[in-house]
Amino acid sequence: MAELRFTFGTMGSGKSTQALQIHHNLRARGLHTILTTQLDRAEGRVSSRLGVSADAEIVEPHTDLFEMVRRRMARQGSVDAVISDEVQFYTPVQCEQLARVVDELAVDIYAFGLLTSFQGELFPGTARMLELADQRIEIQVEARCWCGARATHNGRFVDGRQVVSGQLKVVGDTGGPTSGEVTYDLLCRAHWLDGARKARGSQLELLDVDEARSESDDVDHSGPVEVNPDAVPTPLKAN
Ligand SMILES: [Zn+2]
Repeated sequence: MAELRFTFGTMGSGKSTQALQIHHNLRARGLHTILTTQLDRAEGRVSSRLGVSADAEIVEPHTDLFEMVRRRMARQGSVDAVISDEVQFYTPVQCEQLARVVDELAVDIYAFGLLTSFQGELFPGTARMLELADQRIEIQVEARCWCGARATHNGRFVDGRQVVSGQLKVVGDTGGPTSGEVTYDLLCRAHWLDGARKARGSQLELLDVDEARSESDDVDHSGPVEVNPDAVPTPLKAN
C-alpha cells in the first residue's frame, strides 16, 4: 500500500542527501521514480552539500503534481515513487496533490522539507504535509549551536544580525540596493529566541524614533539624520 512519508529537519540536516539516496536506491532496482524540487533550487537539480546531485523536475507555483505523475504514468507505463525535495516551499494545494498521487495512483511519496522558517514558524507547505502525511519522520542530526547545545532552529542573518521579518524565501543575497548579505545559521532554541527578541526590539525602537520625529514639527528634517549605531542595531529598510 502506497504511503505519504514526510521527513523534516533543519537546514544542513541531510534532507537532500537522503532524497538522493532513495532516488538512487530505487533506480538501481529498476524502479521508475520522479525527483522534484522547488524553483529556486539550482536549475532543476537536487544537490546535497556532500557533493551528489541529480536532475529534477522543477515545481513552480502553478505546477499540478498529480497531473505530472499521471502524465508520466501514461507515457512510460508506471511510476513507482516520487521523491520531493524542498516541499516547505510547495503550496498547500500541491501537498494535497501529492496525497492524491498516493491515494488515487498508488504511488509512494518521499517528501523532504524544513520544519520551521527563520521566523520560527511552520512553513505553509510543511504544515500541510504534517497534516496529511502517513508517516512524519524527524531527521535527528547532531548539528550544534555556537554554544554547544543541539541546534534546532534556522536563523536568518542580514549583515551578521539575526532578523525575523522579511520574505519567507530568500535564497541568498537579494542584490537590492537596500539589502545586505543574507546568511543562515543553525541555533539552539534559547539563542534563536534571544536573537528574535533583540530583532523585534530594534524594530520597535525604529518605530519609536519615527513617531518621535513626526511629533516634533519644529525639528529640521532636511539635513542628514544622525543615527546612533548602538541604539539602532538593524539597518532601516526602505519600502
Ligand atoms: Zn545556543
